[in-house]
Amino acid sequence: MTSTTAIVSHEPKELMKWEWSLEEVTLTAPGEDEILVEMYASGICHTDILLSSVPARTLGVQYPKVVGHEGAGIARAVGKNVQSVSLGDPVLLSFSSCSACIQCQESHPAYCDTFGYRNYVGHDKSMFMDSEKKIWSQFFGQSSFAKHSIVHKSSVVNAKDLINNLDELKLFAPLGCGFQTGMGVIQNITMAVPNDTVLITGLGAVGMGSVITAGIVGCKTIIAVDRVKSRMDLAKQLGATYTIDTSEVGFTTLDEAVRKFVPTGVSIAIDTTGVPTIIEQCVQATRARGKMVIVGSPPMNWELKVRAGQHLNSGRAIMGCVLGDCNAQTAIPQLIKWYREGKFPLESFVRYFDAADYETAVHKLESGEVIKPVLVWKH
Ligand SMILES: [Zn+2]
Ligand SMILES: [Zn+2]
Repeated sequence: MTSTTAIVSHEPKELMKWEWSLEEVTLTAPGEDEILVEMYASGICHTDILLSSVPARTLGVQYPKVVGHEGAGIARAVGKNVQSVSLGDPVLLSFSSCSACIQCQESHPAYCDTFGYRNYVGHDKSMFMDSEKKIWSQFFGQSSFAKHSIVHKSSVVNAKDLINNLDELKLFAPLGCGFQTGMGVIQNITMAVPNDTVLITGLGAVGMGSVITAGIVGCKTIIAVDRVKSRMDLAKQLGATYTIDTSEVGFTTLDEAVRKFVPTGVSIAIDTTGVPTIIEQCVQATRARGKMVIVGSPPMNWELKVRAGQHLNSGRAIMGCVLGDCNAQTAIPQLIKWYREGKFPLESFVRYFDAADYETAVHKLESGEVIKPVLVWKH
């Protein structure tokens, strides 16, 4: 048994209001397929907030639990079935998959048949405060909001050959979710080519990942949309051709604003906001035979209505996307390579916070002031 500190998420008393608190918890020893990770840094993503703001049993979610699904640390104990990591190896954490179902077998682990319970739910076997009160763990196979956590082997990318020092380990902590999603939407989902005109709504980690990747592909027009000026300025530096500020006075519709730049509509539209009106406008702004991808989480029961006849004639594809259909074992090394080549300036997005200061970090993420808050655990 190990004692450690974790940010424990309790069932919200008010709908959509997360309740986290820093608590002392006890960990069991890792099982055969698990690794004890001493956490150095954990990135915060909107999904952490969303899935700790919903009532218990929504999507199978239980409380109390520890969220966190972007992490970096050192392997301190390794189960006997774990081949990818040895004691003392630095590791980067991403989502969990089963490796046995048809999606995993066909190299699409983000669509694993068991994705929901492995990632959104986790289990209550490996972390608990006392024998009475169990804490749900292995959120996305990892529950990285803890100084130590028991992580499933499928969530681990060995970083031994990827990093030069502990500062880099911390900087790369957030690569396991938003950034690889943004990269994968361009590379794996839409398979963008230089001739594409791309619309990206929402400039958080996912949107910025898409802007950069579209730039690397050489897409001829990249339109970046947000309502925070500093983010749009950054998107322009990173390769966006035009920006649209939806908070601007006189702004009418996104479709109209997009068509001022690309009169036919864009060939690719990517929504990372999950805002219903923006999703509808993204569909409208997509040209015939274009692709519209829903990446941001819309409200749970919201339905996108499509006029079937118009849709038929447009030849458009409306697609969903989990984690950019990435395999973290290849996606994370690719992002690190781009970082080293100066194409993916992670320092522009990441801001560090002491783990105890998680409240400030979340508020800065929600206000849009910080694109990627990363909690740092001191050892
Ligand atoms: Zn699977
Ligand atoms: Zn995420």
